[in-house]
Amino acid sequence: MTFADLRQKLNNGEVSSKELVQEKIFRITELDSTLNTFLTVNKEHALKKAEFIDNQRASGKDLPLLSGIPLAIKDNLCTKGIKTTCASKILENFVPPYESTVTGRLLNSGAIMIGKTNMDEFAMGSSTETSAYGPTLNPWNITKVPGGSSGGSAASVAAELCFGALGSDTGGSIRQPASFCGVVGMKPTYGRVSRWGLIAFASSLDQVGPFANNVADAAEILQVIAGKDELDSTTVDIPVPNYLENLSRSIKGLKIGLIDNCFQHEGLASDVKESVLSAASLLETLGANIVNLTCPRFNDGIATYYIIAPSEASANLARYDGVKYGFRSNDEQTLIEMTSKTRALGFGSEVKRRILIGTYALSAGYVDAYYKKAQQVRTLIRKDFEDAFKKVDILLAPTSPTTAFGSGKNIDNPMAMYLSDLLTIPANLAGLPAISLPCGFDKSGLPIGLQLIGNVFEEAKLLQVASQYENAAEVFKNRPKTDFTF
Ligand code: GLN
Repeated sequence: MTFADLRQKLNNGEVSSKELVQEKIFRITELDSTLNTFLTVNKEHALKKAEFIDNQRASGKDLPLLSGIPLAIKDNLCTKGIKTTCASKILENFVPPYESTVTGRLLNSGAIMIGKTNMDEFAMGSSTETSAYGPTLNPWNITKVPGGSSGGSAASVAAELCFGALGSDTGGSIRQPASFCGVVGMKPTYGRVSRWGLIAFASSLDQVGPFANNVADAAEILQVIAGKDELDSTTVDIPVPNYLENLSRSIKGLKIGLIDNCFQHEGLASDVKESVLSAASLLETLGANIVNLTCPRFNDGIATYYIIAPSEASANLARYDGVKYGFRSNDEQTLIEMTSKTRALGFGSEVKRRILIGTYALSAGYVDAYYKKAQQVRTLIRKDFEDAFKKVDILLAPTSPTTAFGSGKNIDNPMAMYLSDLLTIPANLAGLPAISLPCGFDKSGLPIGLQLIGNVFEEAKLLQVASQYENAAEVFKNRPKTDFTF
């Protein structure tokens, strides 16, 4: 069911918003003790707002786009009066006194915030296993991870605990979990969506974006959250186009570039490769021209990212010192001891690893060899994309080299964990919009994600291609019958 279907049912009285919320709360109560997708459920708030919207609808009022639709929000987005932990012990009792721009825009559009979702601590991770509040499980197979860091948002949409969600993507944290959980996830162009009230990880890479069951719903959420925000100077003052208008337009004649060096990795699973290549063939039958091309430095993205992102993180996380807010260790005599103990107890080990790497990469004597070098490579990666977009409209690659991996499999091996971001990171380094959508299933019935990357501010074209593919592929019609589907 799409948001448009839901709206119709709400408008003709087949269902009320209160009933939608009650149904989702029921499912959360039934399923979330296993899945652990939510860190906070806003039951009272959600029911109250649903009643309010039902009354407004009954009085014949013209309601905004998302009125009465229950959505989930990643717990690194500040929500006024509602606990926001970033899945860290250091923010275990943090109740923001203000609303992030994106959640504010959703609320103004009538959406109902059903709860805050689990994630990797400070969005650092690819499996939602670094959360201080326990891991989220993949609803397709609970022995597998849902991906990360926005694993709670992806899994809650997949398990139908909400109709859509917000996540954040610094190196793949929307697209990779979307791919692992069989849902649509999109990272907009850097500067398209406000970061005001998003708890910062790596500020030059972070972007907020939607999770949904289908491309049209993702487009609607983006429509509401996109646009200039005076409170975030990195948002760009370019008009937001109507993202829904183009979805049904033919893609005849569009040029789609298959990034061939993405398909040559030894770590790329054969099921994933086959499925993504057959998605490219389907796009060809829809009239697109498929062109093979190489982005020569695509594979350098991961090394570059793991210098730049930790460097920015080490600066951003300096504010958690136990003084102004958050967790504080209380039994020390001096300020330095207090801060040091607070951080030692408050941060988990992956976050500490990032702070250490970042501090090292920025320190005098190393900054030229690491941080500056990484910035230079970043520029080259961006240039490769600029060259590619002179030849094609959209780029195509797998979202992740594999389908969802087993819980615990990579948690003690950071290098293996980092490698799952291989194919998503370059779009962040270049600031480009990219979407992941389901394109098939592997031998064990787990979903596979197709990644499409667009040129800057060309979200409309990206959504159009994704939507045309989605309609033609009917991936869920061929959904495998497995014993473990949740
Ligand atoms: N998995 C990547 C990391 O750990 C990306 C995370 C993200 O996009 N927030 O840094």
